[in-house]
Amino acid sequence: MIYFDHAATTAPDQEVLEVMARAQELFFGNPSSMHSAGRESRVMVGEARVCIAEYLNCRPSEIYFTSGGTEAINTAVFGTLRKQNIRSVITSRLEHHAVLNAVDAASEFYPFSIHYVRHNAKGVIDTAHLAELLSLNDAALVCLMYANNEIGNLLDVEEVSEICQAEGALLLCDMVQAIGKYETDMQKLRPAFACCSAHKFHGPKGVGLLYASRSARFSPLIYGGGQERGQRSGTENIAGIMGLARAFEAAYRQMQHNRDHISVLKKSFVRMLRERFQGIVFNGTCEEGGLYNLVNVSFPDSYHTDMLLQRLDMQGIAVSGGSACNSGAVSRSHVMEALGAGEEMTTLRFSFAKTNTFGELENCISVLESLLTR
Ligand code: PLP
Repeated sequence: MIYFDHAATTAPDQEVLEVMARAQELFFGNPSSMHSAGRESRVMVGEARVCIAEYLNCRPSEIYFTSGGTEAINTAVFGTLRKQNIRSVITSRLEHHAVLNAVDAASEFYPFSIHYVRHNAKGVIDTAHLAELLSLNDAALVCLMYANNEIGNLLDVEEVSEICQAEGALLLCDMVQAIGKYETDMQKLRPAFACCSAHKFHGPKGVGLLYASRSARFSPLIYGGGQERGQRSGTENIAGIMGLARAFEAAYRQMQHNRDHISVLKKSFVRMLRERFQGIVFNGTCEEGGLYNLVNVSFPDSYHTDMLLQRLDMQGIAVSGGSACNSGAVSRSHVMEALGAGEEMTTLRFSFAKTNTFGELENCISVLESLLTR
């Protein structure tokens, strides 16, 4: 299979699998137990936290392990609305459903107004509009993502943080698609909250973290035995957390090398698509920039585009149409709709990783040619 759907998920690294297998076997003790088996597990979780904090340039106490990006986002949204007197939430129509649906659901319980920051046709967030919205709405929580999972647009997080801080607003930055691909230094980026998911960078599924800066107060979403300093109860996923830490280590160790390799793949793929297919449209900023592993492209209906995703799958090529996070639905995505992309076009998202090769690109292009022009 040619797998070009790494924005949906990645395969765990071999070294991650090994660490996790060892952890399941050796560190089965409950970290809350007082005996040595418990202590050993507690030490492992603590070491993982310290290791990850170094990569994120934050304090270990600012990290809360969760079941992934969705839980981290929900914790930050609901936890902030409960703990603080938030009167407005400012977000964009291009966010992941984890943010949009959490904010919508929260509006049934808490009284706040929702505002959407404008973006242009390429999905570039209008930061002047953000500043304007913040000047009109106090006590705000701003939810904007670092890297868009569908079109790959990158946000200038430092600039957005500065705007938020000038207005006393809290920034929740969804960094799920950025962490592991870029250096994400919390002292530089300065969000109040950020979230991360291991399975997006060759770690295990079902584990991630919420970063909450020391000054950002939030109520827990999950109550119980008081783990994670009372902010996220439940017996720790020791193997998952150790796998997450190892995925961080591997990602940082290989970061420049992977980035160079994947960027070349992406550039070549964009060039090949441009050369071979007339009338295609690259969505977002992916043609000229954006995430270095993601290409989002629409094909006009003059091509044979019916069931394209499924026909690619039958040829052994895994790509995405809508967002795979929406339970694999191929329906028109909310991001494409927000961009006003032509409904008659068929959109594909290709997302690459370190394991992909130039040969796979060439194969994919010739399969595309045969399927689209048949
Ligand atoms: N945010 C973004 C940008 C994502 O791409 C995803 C997953 O696709 C999530 C949040 C949700 O993360 P998780 O799958 O860990 O719940």
